[in-house]
Amino acid sequence: MTDAPGAVARAYVGLGANLGDPMVQMRAAVAALGHLPATTVVGVSSVYRSAPVGYLEQPDFCNAVVALDTGLSPQALLAALLAIEQEGGRTREFRNAPRLIDLDLLLHGDRVVDEPDLTVPHPRMVDRAFVLLPLAELDPGCVVPGAGALSVLAGAVSAQPIERIGVLAPG
Ligand code: AMP
Repeated sequence: MTDAPGAVARAYVGLGANLGDPMVQMRAAVAALGHLPATTVVGVSSVYRSAPVGYLEQPDFCNAVVALDTGLSPQALLAALLAIEQEGGRTREFRNAPRLIDLDLLLHGDRVVDEPDLTVPHPRMVDRAFVLLPLAELDPGCVVPGAGALSVLAGAVSAQPIERIGVLAPG
């Protein structure tokens, strides 16, 4: 599918951090998102604390979701997210390793992308309460392409222990 030139899509980006000062790094990431070309930050969820997935011997994560209106394509937005991770000092030692900042492209309008380096909707988002709950704050009526209503998906992960711990207020 190709978007019309200048088309703006509502995209959602998941933030995660569990090293350094997660709130500081997440605030910096939101600011960086707001400086991307053709992009406006239109919503930031509360911050949630969640237990690590996969590799368990590491601190709990802080997670949030950011809503963007963007004229960037999914591929251009992913490249920008990876650049923001780099600027934030992100390294990739191993899968599910602790991290200063992680940005995932969750949704890009109703686009479905299945490419070697980019899958949208993010393939693991529907399994994760720490994505679905903050996303529901921003768009409770959201429908995840290929997966269905967010309200139903969130119900299926409601047993996962996550805790709302605050907001990413500027400062
Ligand atoms: P990770 O940092 O562990 O989330 O993995 C990042 C890698 O996953 C990137 O190099 C991307 O090429 C790939 N990837 C595929 N789909 C996505 C997506 N929707 N959001 C972020 N990264 C993605």
